[in-house]
Amino acid sequence: MDIDFAPEDAAFRDEVREFLRTQLPDRLKVGTALTPSVFVEPDIGQEWTVILNAKGWLGYQWPVEHGGTGWSPIQRYIFEKECALAGAPSLPVMGLKLVAPVIWAFGTKAQKAYYLPRVLSGADYWCQGFSEPGSGSDLASLQCKAVRDGDSYLVNGTKLWTTHAHHANRIFCLVRTDNSGRKQAGISFLLIDMDQPGITVRPIKSMAGDHEVNQVFFEDARVPAENLVGEEGQGWQIAKFLLENERGGACHAPGLSADLDQILLLSRSQGDGRGGKLINDRNWRQRVAINRLAVDALEMIELKFLADLAKGVKPASQASLAKMLASSLRQEIDLLAMDLHDFAGLQLDPARPFYGPDAPQPVGSKDAQVSAARYLNSRAWTIFGGSNEVQANILAGAALGL
Ligand SMILES: Cc1cc2nc3c(=O)[nH]c(=O)nc-3n(C[C@H](O)[C@H](O)[C@H](O)COP(=O)(O)OP(=O)(O)OC[C@H]3O[C@@H](n4cnc5c(N)ncnc54)[C@H](O)[C@@H]3O)c2cc1C
Repeated sequence: MDIDFAPEDAAFRDEVREFLRTQLPDRLKVGTALTPSVFVEPDIGQEWTVILNAKGWLGYQWPVEHGGTGWSPIQRYIFEKECALAGAPSLPVMGLKLVAPVIWAFGTKAQKAYYLPRVLSGADYWCQGFSEPGSGSDLASLQCKAVRDGDSYLVNGTKLWTTHAHHANRIFCLVRTDNSGRKQAGISFLLIDMDQPGITVRPIKSMAGDHEVNQVFFEDARVPAENLVGEEGQGWQIAKFLLENERGGACHAPGLSADLDQILLLSRSQGDGRGGKLINDRNWRQRVAINRLAVDALEMIELKFLADLAKGVKPASQASLAKMLASSLRQEIDLLAMDLHDFAGLQLDPARPFYGPDAPQPVGSKDAQVSAARYLNSRAWTIFGGSNEVQANILAGAALGL
């Protein structure tokens, strides 16, 4: 879909394009293309964040007063779209997009001064400690406990599915500081240093074979009381603010669109197994076309979200709608990619090598080598950040008044 930009936005797009053409190293593009999981490994991601920070563009969603670019929503969209088209690595959103806005919206002066520059410099790598065994969709039932002990809190309990906890030196956590009233009212938000006795990280291997998530255990971990964000008991309000940022304001459509373009391109040369070309297979064409329409629709929803943000409107239902659609589309498109490679990524047929001259030509992120792992990994999209069923419930309540 063509979108006409104002001349100044078109000039900005050209500037971003030129920057990516000259400053995004090929090795990072290759590393990104071979990554089956949502987040790239820090050795790829950190190099890219250093390059962006040197340019002053790492805080591209941040206000100027905190070291960000102060870009308009349309500039942020252009930047994300061009990065997706160029095959740039994903950015560490747990610091940049999740905890940083919480700190500037709810944090003390000292917290802002200390933590925000460390997110941009890469001194801190954050992970998110919300979910627990039995407390995912029903997050308010969480049990990880923080008890005040002099100038600090003693934290005991566990967090589950903690993405990149094995890389992080900081974790932001929802903890229970009170059990007496409504379960939402007894939750607080703590910033915790991972490098201390009392914190153990246990890996969880995914069915795709990668190590992305973990379980984190707290046994009398000591957290200075000054690391409480907002008031005691304000954690639920902060969590809702953070989750809306997590679900909304992202531009998933450009990346999905770029992947679909590659799939289409490859299906022009890929055989259909019956002597013809996949591109001429009617069912295949239909599947690609349906996904193309859905990606275009998603792009309009994401743009509408950004336009509303520019006016100061932040409807939760729109974030839920975009998150739901993007998650389902990611899975559909990863399934298309795997079908395209005729299951080469699964190595079902050992007689048909997928390395070497007879292998399907690897192109970009839909490389046969990663398509199966990516398909398996993307099952998680409709679960993390709030499952699709939970988003449907939010939509039903907020948009349909049910
Ligand atoms: C790859 C991955 C990475 C993650 N990373 C993080 C992270 O970094 N930090 C973090 O804190 N958490 C993380 N999570 C956890 C994630 O947020 C939870 O898994 C998610 O909220 C679902 O919770 P649950 O796993 O407890 O499933 P449950 O809540 O037990 O849900 C099980 C099933 O029941 C359905 N269901 C539950 N409640 C309802 C309802 N009211 N109506 C209809 N259906 C319902 C769900 O949709 C789901 O299908 C991650 C999860 C995954 C898979």
